[in-house]
Amino acid sequence: VKRVYAFGKDAQGNNVTEGNTNMKAILGGKGANLAEMANIGLPVPPGFTITCQTCMEYANADNTWPEGALDTIQEYRDDLEARIGKKIGDAEDPLLVSVRSGAPMSMPGMMDTVLNLGLNDQSINGLIKQTENPRFAWDSYRRFIQMFSNVVMNLDGDLFENAITAMKHARGVASDTDLTAEDLQELVSEFKQIFAENVDAEAYPSLVVDGTVQFPQDPSVQLQLAIEAVFGSWNNPRATLYRKQNKIADDLGTAVNVQSMVFGNKGNTSATGVAFTRNPANGEKEFYGDYLVNAQGEDVVAGIRNTSPIADLKNVEGLEEAGRELEEVFVTLENHFRDMCDIEFTIEQGKLWMLQTRVGKRTAAAALHIAIEMEKEGLISKEEAVMRVDPEQLDQLLHPQFDKNASYDVVAKGLNASPGAAVGEAVFSAADAVDVAEAGRKCVLVRWETNPDDLAGMIAAEGILTSHGGKTSHAAVIARGMGAPCVCGVEALRIDAEKKQASVVGTDIVIKEGDMISIDGTTGSVVLGAVELVLPEMTGDLDTILEWADEFRKLGVRANADNPEDAELSRGFGAEGIGLCRTEHMFLGDRKQIIQTFILNEDPAVREKAVNELLEAQTGDFLGMFRAMDGLPVIVRLLDPPLHEFLESPRALDVEIAKLEATGGDKALIAEKRMLMEQIDGMSESNPMLGLRGCRLGIVYPILPVMQVRAIATACAELKKEGLDPKPEVMIPLVSVVAELEKLRKVAEDTIAEVAAEQGVELDIPVGTMIELPRAAVTADEIGSVADFFSFGTNDLTQTTFGFSRDDVEAEFVPQYLAERLLPYNPFATIDPGVAKLVEMGVELGHKGNPDLVCGVCGEHGGDPDSVKMFHTIGLDYVSCSPYRVPLARLAAGQAAL
Ligand code: ADP
Ligand code: MG
Ligand code: MG
Repeated sequence: VKRVYAFGKDAQGNNVTEGNTNMKAILGGKGANLAEMANIGLPVPPGFTITCQTCMEYANADNTWPEGALDTIQEYRDDLEARIGKKIGDAEDPLLVSVRSGAPMSMPGMMDTVLNLGLNDQSINGLIKQTENPRFAWDSYRRFIQMFSNVVMNLDGDLFENAITAMKHARGVASDTDLTAEDLQELVSEFKQIFAENVDAEAYPSLVVDGTVQFPQDPSVQLQLAIEAVFGSWNNPRATLYRKQNKIADDLGTAVNVQSMVFGNKGNTSATGVAFTRNPANGEKEFYGDYLVNAQGEDVVAGIRNTSPIADLKNVEGLEEAGRELEEVFVTLENHFRDMCDIEFTIEQGKLWMLQTRVGKRTAAAALHIAIEMEKEGLISKEEAVMRVDPEQLDQLLHPQFDKNASYDVVAKGLNASPGAAVGEAVFSAADAVDVAEAGRKCVLVRWETNPDDLAGMIAAEGILTSHGGKTSHAAVIARGMGAPCVCGVEALRIDAEKKQASVVGTDIVIKEGDMISIDGTTGSVVLGAVELVLPEMTGDLDTILEWADEFRKLGVRANADNPEDAELSRGFGAEGIGLCRTEHMFLGDRKQIIQTFILNEDPAVREKAVNELLEAQTGDFLGMFRAMDGLPVIVRLLDPPLHEFLESPRALDVEIAKLEATGGDKALIAEKRMLMEQIDGMSESNPMLGLRGCRLGIVYPILPVMQVRAIATACAELKKEGLDPKPEVMIPLVSVVAELEKLRKVAEDTIAEVAAEQGVELDIPVGTMIELPRAAVTADEIGSVADFFSFGTNDLTQTTFGFSRDDVEAEFVPQYLAERLLPYNPFATIDPGVAKLVEMGVELGHKGNPDLVCGVCGEHGGDPDSVKMFHTIGLDYVSCSPYRVPLARLAAGQAAL
């Protein structure tokens, strides 16, 4: 196996680079692009790259070197010394190198780099002699000891920073650059002393000389320890956590780049900087970045001194030439990589050197703008432009945000569960949220966690804040569905719902009911007080890219919406219909009373009256929906949740009764409440999610589907008479056997026919079903034969396929499964391949039963880009997702087709 690859030129100026940009898996991103830059003739300090695979072998063998690897490294080191004509550690003219990490995926700041390696008490003299600049030489030496101690030996960086500060005090100077060569030489002695006092002799026997630890003078020891430290940094806790969060595999390893040093700290014609070839914030084509004169390495990003904008470089005496060359490099890089690049460079005494480049990270707005501009410039095709934008990122663009110019203090942080910002009074119960909203004021609902009982309050509130639960908790899922901002899992928040207040752990901050608070679901921030909100600047760029995506995509995109406002919103975002209109949200508020009356009264007359009231209300709902979506399909799902969700909880009643008894409340009222409690208790199920819900409700209470279909058909007929073109469809949930669908289809068809006759209007309303139980998927041929359409309810289908309760999934084992990688990702967020197989089977069998069957997906997965790709492959007709995710689904569907 080849373990080491050279890059850069030889002594004769010939390019001897062995790698290229396509070898990121072997050379890491940095190594592969250093090679690429050398190949296209850019000035890259020569060096070599040790492969990622060597890192993994080393790590897997308990930090021991694979046979022969050290010899190969020695060969490449000899070769590098020959190419440059200097030797590491030489007392006359030493070569210095940097040892740089570089994984296949960019992991900014996660792993380690050591600069100026090769300095020791001998080679420092050579460096002084060659540069005739003792100050620079001693500064380099002290930086090396500092970095080596910190990065390789894990000593606390403060030990050294404190020594520098003390020195500055002693000399009465403010800036590092004011320290003299003598000062720095003295610091080097102090640093070596700190090293000797703090390194554990037992852990590093090779560093012990005459019974005490000493800073290693042998360059070979320095080099080997530094390489081993970079390998080790792959598995440091920071890097491990970063990989987990960013779904990067643990077995990639990091490469190590050993590269000859160039110096940005050799005086006023030297500099170091970082830059982007375009503005990464807004995408404008302009020089973007910062530099520092007479500085090294991380000084620029570390914010030690104030930097200058890159555009000024050409105007600085001694840097003009390098500044102009840098601008040419920008163009070369963009033409070569055909994308916006970020770069790191150093200017040594007027000469420009390139130290790193990669395709640059950018905001959503910049991603759109750059893709479109580059297409116009002829640099990339339309297809590529569509591929260039990350669908997930679009979320940033569509919601209100904190005004960037506002100043505010973040009092706590949680998970950024649903994007956008909200401002309002803190309220601590769903009922209070409803009250405040009805009084025309804005509120943020603050809960420990939310549950279905909180739904009305969640709808009423501007945003949702919870102290528990993860990104797929009830609060998060519902909030995303509604497009409401949500910050969840704010661990520092101690909520006392009884007292209607919350405190922030570790502070004396108390948030009381009515206090204004602001939350930012894009960042997870919680702020006390009202932050100014701004609507994101919607550029035409988004429309352009989405129109291009539309040209390519095969999948339709519909929205999940259950009120006219959301329907209109999603239509504005380009939804081609409503894939799921849930009707249970229409049974909240005042109507909860009506449905309770229906459920709890055996008397048919009372029941009928309740149903008639619901019929009237529902007809109004559907009029609004169908009007908003005129000309486009609206799939209305018949009532789905377990009925108990509409009833009071027996426990709450129990508490109420106890209170009444304690305060000598009205006997008759107590008796009534007690009866109610017993009745509700009698109806309770052990597993309501697997109980009386979905189509089972319609079979047990046929009057409910009759009422709902009648409302749908009546609204449809009325609008037709107005000359509109309503296109409702009736969807029957949670079917497991074909007989259920047959029975309810008949109910629906009869009702539609009745209404058509009554109204004297022709009604053609398709009837279909949700496929959300494994049995339905595997018998989809039978079910398809009586359905006009299928909609795969992948939330329930995931729940019932895995046998995971989706309401409890955050709490216990799933987080552990993810941590231990028993599952690669949360199957409720991204469709699991096993569940997808059931969908695929459902589509295929369904078409056997009915060749004209229309198949779609509703549920969270419809708005998840990876899942959208899967659904494209399976050959579904459309996906349906929450309104705010419609643009994202359009883009993902376009990308899936390319
Ligand atoms: P990171 O991956 O954290 O950016 P790098 O390996 O890029 O770490 O190193 C950080 C900085 O150190 C670089 O941006 C550059 O300024 C400096 N540096 C690294 N290698 C060299 C070198 N051979 N010569 C001069 N400066 C270097
Ligand atoms: Mg870097
Ligand atoms: Mg369902």
